[in-house]
Amino acid sequence: MSESSVLLDVQHLKTYFPIKGGVVRKTVGYVHAVEDVSFQIHEQETFGLVGESGCGKSTTGRSILRLIEPTGGAITFDGVDLHNLDKESLRQKRRDMQLVFQDPYSSLNPRMTVRRLLEEPLRTHFSLSQEELDEQVLWISGAVGLAPEQLERYPHQFSGGQRQRISIARALITKPRFVVADEPVSALDVSIQAQILNLLMELQQELKLSYLFISHDLNVVRHISNRVGIMYLGRMVEQGETEEVYRNPTHPYTQALLSAIPKRDPSEDKVRIHLDGDVPNPADPPKGCPFHDRCPKCMEVCKSELPVTREISPGHFVSCHLLDK
Ligand code: SF4
Repeated sequence: MSESSVLLDVQHLKTYFPIKGGVVRKTVGYVHAVEDVSFQIHEQETFGLVGESGCGKSTTGRSILRLIEPTGGAITFDGVDLHNLDKESLRQKRRDMQLVFQDPYSSLNPRMTVRRLLEEPLRTHFSLSQEELDEQVLWISGAVGLAPEQLERYPHQFSGGQRQRISIARALITKPRFVVADEPVSALDVSIQAQILNLLMELQQELKLSYLFISHDLNVVRHISNRVGIMYLGRMVEQGETEEVYRNPTHPYTQALLSAIPKRDPSEDKVRIHLDGDVPNPADPPKGCPFHDRCPKCMEVCKSELPVTREISPGHFVSCHLLDK
């Protein structure tokens, strides 16, 4: 993929949340939710972000959209530094950058009909006549597979899969170029998951979209992503082309995650790697490699020094001291 096709460039992103304590609610520490994360997303590409719950992947997505204010780093979208945008310019940029939530039910106002839910983002970002609104609503509802008569119904009258179609339609009606899809299928039955994933892929082709696809499900990420990043304790520990990372996982954490996926072929030679202990507290991250407490290959150096990120093959990056040798 050429450099010129980069749509989103994230460099050294940090997002910390203050911990308040004492009677005067003083800041007594910080949760390091995202720590020095860098990656790029190209035009019409899907970048999958994977990791256990609490690893910082959702905070990364929300920080990019500036729904959460990042603590540091640079985010450039289509050549524009998002950090330097004032409120109004950011609002205008937002129509190009949308979010699809995990739980469509809580993100859809239960008192609004589907038609009103779909009109709302258009009213926020454009000045359109009622006729133009109707036209756009009809277009997007058709694109996500909703029938015109369903537009007058309320969210509770739909199944989970249909509600996610409404949520996707709402995100896409402003014709964005980039969508953060945060666990968009994890609340759905497996049979419905495939339909929604296929819908997202069809819409990507049709609308020339780029996705940041956040999920804890490695099979889902493999199905939809061109490239993938593995996060652990707020850091990106490995990233690369999806098939390269899945065939040649190099970071011990990626190896452990992938070893837990059920075999696709029963004759496959695969041994599950069990990780001891829990993910450390992000308010008090360990010194050295963030994974050293649980890593089956931990060495002395891992306990004191943070590993540098190395490119082990074109586009395949890994942060691990095993590569220092
Ligand atoms: Fe394991 Fe050390 Fe590599 Fe960290 S740097 S993943 S502790 S081998």
